[in-house]
Amino acid sequence: MQIIKTIQEFKSLRKKLNNNIGFVPTMGALHIAHESLIQRAVDENDISVVSIYVNPAQFNNSKDFDSYPNTLENDIKVCEKLGVDYLFLPSSDEMYYIDEVLIKAPEGTGSMLEGACRPGHFDGVLRVILKFFNIIQPTKAYFGQKDAQQLFLINMMVKNLFLDIDVVGCDLIREPSGLAYSSRNINLSAKAKEKASLIYKIFLDIKQKISHGIIDVEKLKTEALEQFDDMFEVEYLEIYTRDFHKISQVEVGNSLVMISVYIDDVRLIDNILV
Ligand code: AMP
Repeated sequence: MQIIKTIQEFKSLRKKLNNNIGFVPTMGALHIAHESLIQRAVDENDISVVSIYVNPAQFNNSKDFDSYPNTLENDIKVCEKLGVDYLFLPSSDEMYYIDEVLIKAPEGTGSMLEGACRPGHFDGVLRVILKFFNIIQPTKAYFGQKDAQQLFLINMMVKNLFLDIDVVGCDLIREPSGLAYSSRNINLSAKAKEKASLIYKIFLDIKQKISHGIIDVEKLKTEALEQFDDMFEVEYLEIYTRDFHKISQVEVGNSLVMISVYIDDVRLIDNILV
């Protein structure tokens, strides 16, 4: 595995690569779910590229940015173990100009849910991903269903800007307790981590109710919210269609339950297809 730290170096290398390139952008602190995306990129392409870059432009809260976990030494070992060809570690000095052309997330689907709770977040995500797409010029790019709205908006950007990249959505991966893997889980106390598995139990309860014909969104939301105790601060719990339209009744097989909660001051997001 070759580690590349400058954009220039990657661009010169890119000119020599004529093969299919599979790309996985990450912010590091790699865990098993990241590994599953990386494994797919390695298996499905001639060349695999992983980037690790904690993108300041997508954080609307400096405390959140400062506390973002960094486990680079271990991340390098993980990428090596999985057979990654190139690990790209750019610096912010190079990634951003002081005054530059900006990318704006769509007003509708970009400003609800995560977009409403984290103003500017998706502008920053799309901005950095477009930069990465231009530097790496991947054939396929792998993103997790864990960040469902992000995956939706990246697909939209690729379509709207006529990019020639195949966006591959990868299944959401959970710990045995049901808690979705997240780099932020490192910041949870043992007690909070155990508690956090309640999110998935509540999702399964919603799923079960839907299978019994209860499809009224307000009723499902109210009954779900009642199950969280005061260790949780629920930021939102919504049920939308898979293409992010508001609904009053679940469209079975085409809906998404999405949640954002704080537990122990750690912000967790999760979702389940229903
Ligand atoms: P991050 O490092 O958090 O930016 O994540 C990098 C990629 O891994 C994103 O496409 C995420 O959606 C994906 N990812 C993170 N956690 C999970 C998970 N539990 N299951 C599936 N994909 C995930």
